[in-house]
Amino acid sequence: MAERLPPEIIARIRNNPKLFLTELKNALASGTGNFLLTLIDKKRPLPDRETKPELTPLASNRGYVIDNHNYELRLSPDAEAALHSMAEELQKNGMRLYVRSAYRDYAAQNLLYQNAVKTYGQAAADRESARSGASQHHTGNACDFSLPGQKSYDDFTSSQQYRWLSEHAWEYGWSNSYPAGCEEITGYRPESWHWRYLGKPAAKLERDWFTSGGQSIQQLMLEFMCRWQNP
Ligand SMILES: [Zn+2]
Repeated sequence: MAERLPPEIIARIRNNPKLFLTELKNALASGTGNFLLTLIDKKRPLPDRETKPELTPLASNRGYVIDNHNYELRLSPDAEAALHSMAEELQKNGMRLYVRSAYRDYAAQNLLYQNAVKTYGQAAADRESARSGASQHHTGNACDFSLPGQKSYDDFTSSQQYRWLSEHAWEYGWSNSYPAGCEEITGYRPESWHWRYLGKPAAKLERDWFTSGGQSIQQLMLEFMCRWQNP
């Protein structure tokens, strides 16, 4: 995972440090106490394995489509509300947003990870599945989107929903966690379907400042925030 920001991002910040600082502080103030901006990755699992976020069940009359009938999907109330608004806007544009997975507890994540290891082997599993404790899904702010009858999650990459989300999701506070071309930074292969709710101020901060090579990179912003708060 990246220890330093790409020169493009450093130059952008140096060009207008005052504005950056104002927007950074706004974003940080919006993200206290609800895992909104907690950095969770392979190196930094959640410290307290028993921590549970506040959760609300996803419901079928909220614009999105629940594409999982094995168990009840849940998200933090703020993430669910933002998902609701975003899915309604997609609907106005002739698309439906299907949700396959949302909050996962440690046991559910462990099961997924162990299955991935069995199916693909350790190395391949680690490129796309988090170990228990290290998944953004533990925050209650992450979602996996899907397509009806998909063969694999990767089908989402060529969908019109993904194209729309890539342009507009930030307006609703959502961010794609593992974009293409960023495996060395994020530790994960591209996952077009995996989105995390950061809240509007942080999603805008990511888009306006933490963009490199035309791609805004959530991981770089969360790492920066982590260093900023724990120097
Ligand atoms: Zn996911």
